[in-house]
Amino acid sequence: NQTTNIMGIPFPNITMNQTVTILGDVVDQRQSALFHVITGNPEIVMSCQKDQALRSIVDQAGILTADGAGIVMVSRFRGGQLTERVTGCDLLFRLLEEGSQKNWSFYMLGAEESVNKRAVEVIAQNYPGVVVRGRQHGFFTTDEEQSIVEEIHEVQPDFLIVALGAPNAEHWINKYRHQLNARVAIGVGGSLDILAG
Ligand code: UDP
Repeated sequence: NQTTNIMGIPFPNITMNQTVTILGDVVDQRQSALFHVITGNPEIVMSCQKDQALRSIVDQAGILTADGAGIVMVSRFRGGQLTERVTGCDLLFRLLEEGSQKNWSFYMLGAEESVNKRAVEVIAQNYPGVVVRGRQHGFFTTDEEQSIVEEIHEVQPDFLIVALGAPNAEHWINKYRHQLNARVAIGVGGSLDILAG
């Protein structure tokens, strides 16, 4: 069985290692279309029940991972093959590790200004090969969005990390998907707070 159905959403049976490998290939191939990674946590699954637009964003995602112990538990209970959680936070740490070897570039969007700033400092200290091409806190107004999008477009990051909460991050990424000029975009929830410590 290739997918595990959770409340109508088919979760592919994909591991952390497979996810990181696929994203490495996406970066290497330098595709122009934005590759949207969704870490499917309970908020996303619940929101999808009512939010058709979110549901179609999830259906079109490049990768949908199972972020949430419940999803993996249900799969096991049904004898399914979804054996591993891939949370936004774990994925970010893995991408920073891999990125430090391969000099991947990042743009960090979201969280409070002090948290965002500190997270970028922590990256510089611990992942010296990673290139942070820009950063922006997550408490901007609608009027400020276009200039943020233009800055991201300008610096062309391999990875756009979006910590705006779920499902806001997913809607935001989708809204600007044709303008961002990043290879991969991922909504990561509270990961910058964790990274900042
Ligand atoms: N956040 C933000 N702008 C907002 C609302 C939230 O940047 O308008 C940030 C918040 O500071 C935190 C993250 O988004 O760093 C949301 O974390 P949470 O754990 O709530 O995310 P979830 O796990 O619900 O996606």
